[in-house]
Formats: sequence, C-alpha cells, structure tokens
Amino acid sequence: MKIGKVYLVGAGPGDPGLLTCRGRDILQNADVVVYDRLIGAELLALCRGDAEQIYVGKAAGRHSMTQDEINEVLSDHALRGSSVCRLKGGDPFVFGRGGEEALHCLKYQIPFEIVPGVTSAVAAPAYAGIPVTHREVATSFAVVTGHTKEGAPANLPKADTLIFLMGIKALPQIVENLLKDGRAETTPAAVIRWGTTTEQQVVTGNLSNIEERIKAAKLTTPALIVVGDVVNLRKQLQWFDDSAQRALWGKTVVVTRAREQASSLVFQLSDLGAKVIQCPTIRIVPLENYDRIQNAIDNIASYNWIIFTSTNGVDAFWEQISERGYDARLLANAKIVAIGPATEAALAKRGLKADLIPATSISESVADEMIQKGAAGKVLLVRALQGREVLQEKLSEAGMQVDLAPCYQTIADNSGAEEVRELLQEGKIDWVTFTSSSTVKNFVDAIGEDIIKATRESFRVACIGPITAKTADENNLSADVIAAGSGTAELAEAICDAVK
Ligand code: SAH
Repeated sequence: MKIGKVYLVGAGPGDPGLLTCRGRDILQNADVVVYDRLIGAELLALCRGDAEQIYVGKAAGRHSMTQDEINEVLSDHALRGSSVCRLKGGDPFVFGRGGEEALHCLKYQIPFEIVPGVTSAVAAPAYAGIPVTHREVATSFAVVTGHTKEGAPANLPKADTLIFLMGIKALPQIVENLLKDGRAETTPAAVIRWGTTTEQQVVTGNLSNIEERIKAAKLTTPALIVVGDVVNLRKQLQWFDDSAQRALWGKTVVVTRAREQASSLVFQLSDLGAKVIQCPTIRIVPLENYDRIQNAIDNIASYNWIIFTSTNGVDAFWEQISERGYDARLLANAKIVAIGPATEAALAKRGLKADLIPATSISESVADEMIQKGAAGKVLLVRALQGREVLQEKLSEAGMQVDLAPCYQTIADNSGAEEVRELLQEGKIDWVTFTSSSTVKNFVDAIGEDIIKATRESFRVACIGPITAKTADENNLSADVIAAGSGTAELAEAICDAVK
C-alpha cells in the first residue's frame, strides 16, 4: 500500500488570519487532521467535509494523550495511506514537540513536511504593541520555556528581551531567577494572555510587581511573559487591544447576513476590533431549475433594462451566462441598473458599467429613479427567488413589462443560532446587525421571540436602511442605529459613532 505523508503545520498564535497560505492549502486537502488545544474552530472549519478530525489535546477531567500516543496516531494514519495534517499552535518547532514528531516519522520512513507558523513568542508581543527588538532598546531576544522537568530554568540567556512560554505557574521562580541573574527590579515586564485573539489581555509592570498585578487581574493560561525595556514601547505602540484606535475593541457583534455575503461586513467589524459572531439565518443555494434564466437569455435582445439587485445576483447570473458560452457582450443592448455600490462593483469586475445606480436601495425610489431616467419597455429583474414584489409592481404600474430572472434562492440556516442564544442569555452580546428585512425575520425565527424579549435590554441593534429598520421595529428589535448608506462600511461606521 502507498504510504501517506505527515505535514507538521504551524497554526499560528490564535488569530486565524495568521495561518500561512501553505498551511491553509494542506489543511484544506488533508484526509486526517490531528489538532491540539488552542486550535480555534475557525481553522478547523477549513478542513475538508469528509476529513477525520482527531483531538489530541488536554481536556478537563480526561486523560490527555502522551506524546508517544500522539506519535502513534500520526504514523498509523500515514502508514494507511492518509495525508495527515498535524496542526500545532504557533510554530511546530518552537516548544511544540514538532521535532519529536518529525523524528518519529523518520523512524517509520514516513515522508514529512514542516510548515513553519507564526509563533506566539513574537506575535503576541506584536499584538500587544511590544516589538521584541528595537534599535535603541534591544538588539537580541530569546525564547525560554518556563517549564522544564526541574521547573523554571535557572540558566538564563543573555538576550536583551526574554520571552517565557508556559511560564505562568512558575512566574515567582522566573522572577527570582531573573533577579539572581542581575536584572533590576525595575526591569519592565508584561504578561499577555490569549494574544492575537479578541480575548487578548495584557498586564504590564516590572519584576517587583508583575506577580501581584497578574494575580489582581486573575490572569491565567494561555499566556506568555515578556521581560525587557521593549515592554515600555507598548505605551506608544498599543494598537490591537486599544479602543481609542479600534472603536469596537471589547464589543461582541452579531452578523446575521448569509455567510456567502458576510465577508466584507465581518472584515470591517473585525478591523475595528469587534469580536464578530456569525449567525447566518439564511444560506444561498442554487435553484432547482434555471428555466426562467434560460428563457431570458434566449430573448435577451428584447430587454431594454436589466436590474441587478445584489452582488450575489451578479455572481449567480454570470455563472449562468458563462455556462451557456456567453460573456458581457450578451448584455450590450440593455441599460443596466445596479442597486448599491457593491453591486455596481461586481458588474464593473465583469467589464460592465452600470447606467443607473439609484441613490437609495429602497425599491420604491429605485422605480422612481428609473422612471425619471426614461425607463420603458421590457425590464429584466435579476434577483433571488424570494424577494419583495414592490419594484416589479411599481414598474408595471408605470407601463413596463417586468420579467423576473431568479438566479439563486435562500434557505434557512440555523448554524449559529445556538451559540447566539446562549451568549444573549449571558448578556455577552453588545450589537446585533441586520442588513435586510429577511435577516430580521429569520433571526427572530432562529432565536425565538421569547429570548429576544427577555434579553432585549442587553444589546443594541444596527440596521442598514429604513426598510430593514422598520421590520426590526415590528419585531421588538427597534434599531438603535440606522446606517446612512446601503454599504456595509457605513453600517460599521454607524456602530462606531454610536459607541464613541
Ligand atoms: N509552538 C507554540 C508554543 C507552544 S507552548 C508557538 O510557537 O507559539 C504553549 C505556550 O505558548 C503557552 O503556554 C503560552 O505560553 C504560549 N502561547 C501560545 N499561544 C499563546 C497566545 N495566543 N497568547 C499568549 N501565549 C500563548
């Protein structure tokens, strides 16, 4: 039988964005994924649907696997022909026992590959605004374990900056050793917990008070310790866990948009520091049949106007025309309406310049603006199977013949509801965002009216546009904030303004 391969992949320090491209490719293709504690769900979500996921980390009350047992898991699967992704926190060769796992593969002549990762030793300080070296302050750094068979190591490297991993329990001993080694009591020190994640906590002080301060802050593992003058730079360079620079730091924001459409909003909110919880209540899926699109394509020359209502509509419509061997020239004779700047951009990517981008996305005013622009004749409306009928009605009233070209449909998706229900009840959600009326209705269905009612005082609501806000209002979810425009950036900005 053909032997498989073991990939020792560094998963990075916590922020899922810090996985390398190589690591992601391997994770997405592996037959078996063997992972530790501290590996986040977002990374595991990248696994192939049919990949076997094996947890080998510590669990409360349960015996954790020994290194020998973990080694056996790796070789067993590889010898049976699987490609095995061994996903390890940070970098696999920095206190990750990756070296032992590679040697074990060698013993069985199993091919292996090492994919370095962003180590927490450097990344957690970076996210805390502490550069581990700095021309004027530190010309060297060393990474030290706080945990050997004999306890904290007494023999310390002579580097300017010392970074201790696995050292929280041994902190008193570490401090004692540092003082014995000649470091002053005033030497700055920082402890960083859950570095690079939205849970990041940082406590700073010096060798004489850091123990007391982390006790007062009740700071526990996973955390690392940085010792040296570079710690002082945090006063100027703090950026990640700083609500002055990232207004939504410390805030938990729910995004109810379909996963397929949520990426820009998730990005913008995260960029502003928010912890984003996705609670997509709908999923975008293909239609059962595309007869109406086929019909529209057959008669495309007869349409005077074509309306695209969303980027999804553009994507799905494009798939349909490409599949049938056409390109942008198919639409050469019609005037094109793009509802919203994102839709405009999606069309531009395909080489189409919209003739009309209505000032607002509300169906009523879209119709008015089209009429003002002299719209007449036959109109093709490209959108989801489910949608409001207002636009169609208004245009028909004005004498146009409107054909619907549904090119995708939305179905209920309750994947995030359980988590959000719990967080709501614990009062841990600060904002819930809605980008359309249907997200409001689906959210109420998924979470339940009673829970929303009971927890309504504990969170605020942000909506895109007045129609969404009206639906929210009718559902006990009156908007605290209504975004000025129809874009997700405006929604994120509106929340920021409210928070400030
Ligand atoms: N290979 C890993 C280190 C494994 S040892 C790496 O390169 O990062 C585990 C220790 O790493 C923890 O006890 C803690 O000291 C540190 N650590 C890992 N992730 C961390 C994080 N997000 N924030 C702070 N410390 C972290």
